[in-house]
Amino acid sequence: MNKTQEMFDFASRYMVAGVSSSVRLSKALGHPFYTLKGDGSKVYDVEGKEYIDMCMSHGASFLGHNNQKIKQAIQKALDIGIICAHETEYHGKYAQKICDMVPSCELIRFTCSGTDATQHAIRVAREYTGKEKIIMFEGCFHGYHEGVMFSTHPPLELAGPATAPNPVPTSGGIPKQMSELVLVLSFNDVDTLEKAIKNHRNEVCAVIIEAVGYNSGCMMAKKDFLQALRVLTQENDILLIFDEILSGFRMCSGGAQEYYGITPDLCTLGKTVAGGTPLSVFGGKREIMEHVKPLGNAQHSGTYNGHLIPVMAGLASLEQISSDGFYDHINKLAERLYKGLNDIFQKTGIKGCVKGLGGMFGIYFGLDKEPVNYRELAKNYNQEIILKFYKEIYKKGIYFADYGGGPAHHGFSSAHTLEEIDECLNRIEDVMKKL
Ligand code: PLP
Repeated sequence: MNKTQEMFDFASRYMVAGVSSSVRLSKALGHPFYTLKGDGSKVYDVEGKEYIDMCMSHGASFLGHNNQKIKQAIQKALDIGIICAHETEYHGKYAQKICDMVPSCELIRFTCSGTDATQHAIRVAREYTGKEKIIMFEGCFHGYHEGVMFSTHPPLELAGPATAPNPVPTSGGIPKQMSELVLVLSFNDVDTLEKAIKNHRNEVCAVIIEAVGYNSGCMMAKKDFLQALRVLTQENDILLIFDEILSGFRMCSGGAQEYYGITPDLCTLGKTVAGGTPLSVFGGKREIMEHVKPLGNAQHSGTYNGHLIPVMAGLASLEQISSDGFYDHINKLAERLYKGLNDIFQKTGIKGCVKGLGGMFGIYFGLDKEPVNYRELAKNYNQEIILKFYKEIYKKGIYFADYGGGPAHHGFSSAHTLEEIDECLNRIEDVMKKL
C-alpha cells in the first residue's frame, strides 16, 4: 500500500471522507491529494512526486507557494505574539492598500472566509435598503451560507425555464424558506433582468454577481449586460455587489470592476487578497458601509476577523501584486497558455476550448466556444472526458483540482515561468492525443 492510501484510510477513520472540505476528495483520482509541501509553482505529494500546480490553492496562492516575503510577514506576526482579536497599526495600512487598489472600496471590513464576506455584504444591503430578496445568476457561486447556495450548476431537469429559472439548492439542509428570498436569473440576459427588476424592485435589496464567472470556468459577463445591470440597480434602489473572491487581483490590480470599468456599490474579496492565508473582505461605498455596527445597525463581529497573521500576509501579498511589471508577467503566461491549449484542441480534433482571463481559466470539453450562460455550458459540457483528462494529466505530473468533474476554474501563479507553461503544454498535448 502506498503512503497516500495509508493516509487516506487513516484520515477516513476520523474525518468525513478523509478530508476537511468536500471537494478535496478527488473524483478523478479516488483519493485526496496529500501534500508534502509547495514551493513556487510546484507542489509535492506525500510520495515525494513533483507536480506543476494548476490549482494554486484554488486561486489563493497567486504569488506561488512558499513566497518569501509573505513568510517574513507571517514571522513578524508570530513575533508580535500570535495575537488575535486585537487591532494593530498593520490593519489600517492593509485596509488603505485595498482601498487604493480596488475602485469600489471606500470603507472595508475583514472577515475570515469568502462565505463570511458575501453573507455580510448581503446583510449590509438588507439593512441599508430595508428590503430582503437578492438576485443572483445561474452558474455563479457565492459561498456556503444558506442565503446563496442556489443554482451554481443545477441539473437541467430541475432548473426550470431559462427565462425564469428555479432556485435549485446546491446542498441538502437548506430551508425551503431561503429560496423565497432568492431570484435566480440567466447570466448575460438583459431582458429577463429588466423584467425581474421591474416586477420585484420593492423587494430586492441587491444583485450579486461574479462579473467574471470563474466558477463556471471563465464565463464572462458581456460589458453591455453589466452596464445595463449598473443602470437598472441604480435606478431602482437596489445595490450591486460584485463577488470578487476569485476575480479580485486576477487580471489587474482592481479586479473585474477595474477591468470592465464598472463600479459596484459593494464587493467581496478573498483568496489572493491575503496571499494564501484565511482572510476575506467586504467593502464598498462609505455611505453604505457606515451601516455596519457600531456606526450603523448591521452586525459584523468575530474573534478571528482580521487575524494578524493573514493581515500581515495580505499586506505583503498586495505590495508585490502592485509592483511594476507584475501583470506583464501574468499576461505573458496567460497568452501562451490559453493559445497553446486552444491549439491543442484544434490539433487533436477533440471538441473543446479554453477561455481564460489573467491568471485563471476554464477548460470546456464539449464546447466550441466559451459559454454565454450556464444553460449553454451545461447542455454541451463533457464531464466524462474531463475526469479522464485530470487522471491522466496527474500521472504526468500536473496537478489540476477536479471539483467533482463539473465546470471549474484552474489557474497559475506569478511564480510560474514561460518554460513551465511550455512544459505543461507538452504534457497536456501528450495526454490529449491519447484521450
Ligand atoms: N465567492 C466566490 C466567487 C468563490 O469562488 C468562493 C470560493 O471559492 C466563495 C465566494 C467562498 O469563499 P470561501 O471558500 O473562502 O468561503
